[in-house]
Amino acid sequence: MTAVTQETASVRTIALELPDWPGHRAGQHLDVRLTADDGYRAERSYSIAAAPGEGPAITVERLDDGEVSPYLTQELRSGDQLEVRGPIGGYFVWDSGANESVPLLLVAGGSGIVPLRSILRHRVRTASKVPVRLLYSAKALDEVIYRTELDQQGEGVQVCYTLTRRQPPGWTGYARRVDDALLGQVAWSAISQPLAFVCGPTPFVETVAAGLVWLGYPAAQVKTERFGGAGREGDSVRPGEAGGR
Ligand SMILES: Cc1cc2nc3c(=O)[nH]c(=O)nc-3n(C[C@H](O)[C@H](O)[C@H](O)COP(=O)(O)OP(=O)(O)OC[C@H]3O[C@@H](n4cnc5c(N)ncnc54)[C@H](O)[C@@H]3O)c2cc1C
Repeated sequence: MTAVTQETASVRTIALELPDWPGHRAGQHLDVRLTADDGYRAERSYSIAAAPGEGPAITVERLDDGEVSPYLTQELRSGDQLEVRGPIGGYFVWDSGANESVPLLLVAGGSGIVPLRSILRHRVRTASKVPVRLLYSAKALDEVIYRTELDQQGEGVQVCYTLTRRQPPGWTGYARRVDDALLGQVAWSAISQPLAFVCGPTPFVETVAAGLVWLGYPAAQVKTERFGGAGREGDSVRPGEAGGR
């Protein structure tokens, strides 16, 4: 681990120095394994926050009652060693240039923004002109991860926030949980045959994915990544996809 950036009060980006890193695609993740002195091991998945071509980095949100995220966000120091396996995943990925005429809809809940940031950066680095709409649901403005970067997106990218718990004075953006009506206002019309990437806590992802299908998006055009919290986890982690390291 080489450098740490504090993104919000509970979120950190950790740059990883992996000399044998084979490169990654936008949207992939990696697995981090921690081993305690007594041999106890815990392994968790983290999306790769960097674009293809950039050095790998992860962005971790601290869950106060969690096992791994408090260590990564509070105790890990520059120079510490981590055991990492990856890159992993071939489903929740976006390759620039595949089809420039397909607009992208990105929908994030909380730290679900991480793989979507990789996609946004990949778009910029490859000078893609694919039109993008990002809908990002966070509890409050100070919990929006990468806010400065998201606010500086250039032509062709529309960013909408919805703040579900606290809104600053004068807030004119959305202020409720994502539901079918909100998706109907923000999402591309299904007629334009967009490709959607939805990422965040499991219940959030399931609500949004169902809403998009209700709006007429073919299910195959709605790619989902579940971070957990309730229900099933990470349906993009498919047997046999893991790259060994
Ligand atoms: C493919 C994939 C990519 C992921 N990418 C990221 C990422 O980029 N950044 C990131 O911060 N996390 C990411 N996660 C979640 C991450 O793997 C861990 O689950 C998370 O850090 C919690 O681990 P923990 O050991 O601290 O908590 P645990 O000890 O595993 O869990 C503590 C408690 O929190 C609940 N919980 C677990 N995960 C969540 C969650 N996401 N939201 C709310 N409650 C939860 C559990 O049900 C439990 O009650 C990803 C998960 C997957 C499957």
